[in-house]
Amino acid sequence: MRLIFIGPPGAGKGTQSELIYSKYRIIQLSTGDILRLNVKEKTELGKQANEFISFGKLVPDDIIINMIKEELDDPKFKNGFLLDGFPRTIPQAEALDVLLSNLNVKLDKVLLLEVPDTEIVTRLSGRRTCRTCNRTFHIVFNPPPNPADCDRGICDIYQRDDDKEETILKRLQIYHNQTAPLIDFYTNKNLVAKINGTGTLEEVFQQIDSILMQL
Ligand code: ADP
Ligand code: ADP
Repeated sequence: MRLIFIGPPGAGKGTQSELIYSKYRIIQLSTGDILRLNVKEKTELGKQANEFISFGKLVPDDIIINMIKEELDDPKFKNGFLLDGFPRTIPQAEALDVLLSNLNVKLDKVLLLEVPDTEIVTRLSGRRTCRTCNRTFHIVFNPPPNPADCDRGICDIYQRDDDKEETILKRLQIYHNQTAPLIDFYTNKNLVAKINGTGTLEEVFQQIDSILMQL
């Protein structure tokens, strides 16, 4: 399956991608995770992207499109993928159309995860992320594991710089201005499935599961 996740920052895309992988083995491709890895390793891409990420701005389209082009060449995505955090602008979505048609493949569904802004602030300000496995947790709704009990080695939990309240509001505004227009873009292609993202992790996954079972 070839899927896209759209939804505001903190809607639960990463969390649900993990549950989708557990059941369907569809590999998540998160542009945010790739960018943060590049920042950590101080690559050229990381140096270019760092300032945009820490101010909560979008990294320029040409940089992101080149990055995705390279990623999608990886044979592990040959049978499918779940794009998380890409596309985020209309030019990125248009570039993806070209990439996919060159690969001779089509999108199966665009999952739109809907969560109101007030809930987003609560989720992102309590989010904690693991440096080693990229999983996200929440101090109240999904507490991080004790490092000693972590099933993937020692979890190294931290709070992302861009998960501070001031940057969260900026990112939400950018979502509404630049990313939300993708909803119409993909609705016109008849690809959008809406998911109510406000329930528990399991309730949200049940909705996604019933969509994927029909594909
Ligand atoms: P995204 O990938 O869309 O930015 P995450 O999956 O990282 O979002 O989730 C953002 C925060 O909200 C995390 O702290 C996560 O634990 C929490 N979260 C995710 N889904 C839910 C949910 N259904 N209910 C409550 N909190 C959630
Ligand atoms: P979240 O889901 O919490 O918004 P991500 O991990 O998807 O966070 O993205 C973190 C940051 O990485 C974004 O705020 C932006 O600076 C950059 N980024 C990730 N994906 C893209 C993209 N497709 N286009 C531009 N910038 C991106």
